[in-house]
Amino acid sequence: MTAAAQLHPALETHRNIIAGRSVAAADGRTLDVLCPSDGAVFAAIARSGAADVDAAVAAGRAAFEGAWGRMAPHERGRLLTRLGQAILDNFDELAELESRDTGKPARQGKADITSAARYFEFYGGACDKLSGDTLPFLPDHMALTLREPHGVTGHIIPWNYPAQMYGRSVGGALAMGNAVVLKPAEEACLTPLRITGLALEVGFPAGAINIVTGTGEEAGAALSGHPGIDFISFTGSPEVGTLVQAAAARNHIGATLELGGKSPQILFADADLEAALPVVVNAIIQNGGQTCSAGSRVLIEESICEEVMKDLAQRFAGLVAGPHQDDRDVGPLISARQRDRVSGFLARAKDEGVPLLAEGTIADGAPAGGFYAAPALFGPVPRDNALACDEVFGPVLSAIPFADEADAVRVANASDYGLVAGVWTADGARQMRVARALQVGQVFVNCYGAGGGVELPFGGRKKSGHGREKGFDALYEFSTSKTVVFRHG
Ligand code: NAD
Repeated sequence: MTAAAQLHPALETHRNIIAGRSVAAADGRTLDVLCPSDGAVFAAIARSGAADVDAAVAAGRAAFEGAWGRMAPHERGRLLTRLGQAILDNFDELAELESRDTGKPARQGKADITSAARYFEFYGGACDKLSGDTLPFLPDHMALTLREPHGVTGHIIPWNYPAQMYGRSVGGALAMGNAVVLKPAEEACLTPLRITGLALEVGFPAGAINIVTGTGEEAGAALSGHPGIDFISFTGSPEVGTLVQAAAARNHIGATLELGGKSPQILFADADLEAALPVVVNAIIQNGGQTCSAGSRVLIEESICEEVMKDLAQRFAGLVAGPHQDDRDVGPLISARQRDRVSGFLARAKDEGVPLLAEGTIADGAPAGGFYAAPALFGPVPRDNALACDEVFGPVLSAIPFADEADAVRVANASDYGLVAGVWTADGARQMRVARALQVGQVFVNCYGAGGGVELPFGGRKKSGHGREKGFDALYEFSTSKTVVFRHG
């Protein structure tokens, strides 16, 4: 038996779930799924096209106009809560599948499945909590607003956190009573398929959740441009986000775009470095840096810059990348393409003379076919260098010195992106000033959640996108308000 066969005992073909049934792509095509830890093909998925997306949207419409659309909010809530419990009941299987599919270390796979369950718990409790208003208006009139679902919502998610993104994207939409059609990423989509199967097992009506797998150019474009959807939620790259927004505009529907980031962690001289530095390192190596909210820039006040860079260098030198099952500091990247993209950034920075302060290692015995990249720390990085400006989406941290508070805010905001920021200082007034001055969607002070917490609204500004998911804000995105006026005389 080969090593790959031992790691991946059963080669399984996974199918779409449309109208409550497991179905192959209409034309029977499939795509291989690779395990990033060793590069081996270990599964296949349906390679869907426009006909499959048509069927999924029609199934969503039928559910919305049928059993799902007629369900009382508290009954929907019960189903979402049950799905959260079903995820926990199948925890080990889902966590292992998530790690195998994405390459993420075992403990990260477990954390992600816990988060996926939390989305359904949170939104299960939220289904019957959002109400409209009665409005002061003319005498002899009664004016009120109703909160209504959009209808059929489309969802396109990336490969970096398939289970979490699933919960985040569809949780709020289902809570408001929409029927959903999800197109997960072709690189990693097995937990979204499995969780959709669990949804049927706990009693979701057929067609409430439909999932079609395949490439972005085929299934993704067919979904985002489909005239039968009423809203689209997209998480992914700014380039594809632009296409999705244009398609939504052509169909005159709303869209949330959750795109990339170049998130800063700002370290002032009075910061508690003992608390801050492990968090700074974790915020860029978590998930191999393939996190939209990765803390990929560390801005350091000049007076402590040498000391901090030295400390960070020691930490980076000790980091090890290895296969998911070995649970090292970082796993492999998602694909050979992503690994080559990251190594391109590193080669260019080295050519341009950006100082490489430290590099981690790849574990002895890591399978040769895996997509490994050693964590790297550069600094000081010139403010206009690609490493300071572009999203690398790998375990690469750029240290950038700053002179004072105004300079720190200037550098932090001098980015095309505006997703998350971390601020580390003991000065309470500065904490508030800086938090208010940052042009981002989330600020963490003396901590860094990397988007964590299902309760916390999340989303970006500028090239990081618009709209908010998570928390109660998502319920507003996934619903619309209708004003009704009665003249009662
Ligand atoms: P991507 O945009 O290439 O792919 C994301 C999804 O879009 C996939 O499902 C893909 O199949 C689909 N897609 C691709 N082309 C499409 C098209 N023409 N029409 C419709 N759909 C299409 O992104 P990626 O490289 O896979 O993911 C990484 C990016 O996602 C990074 O920029 C990262 O920052 C971002 N991201 C953002 C968040 C967030 O919450 N803001 C979270 C995770 C990832």
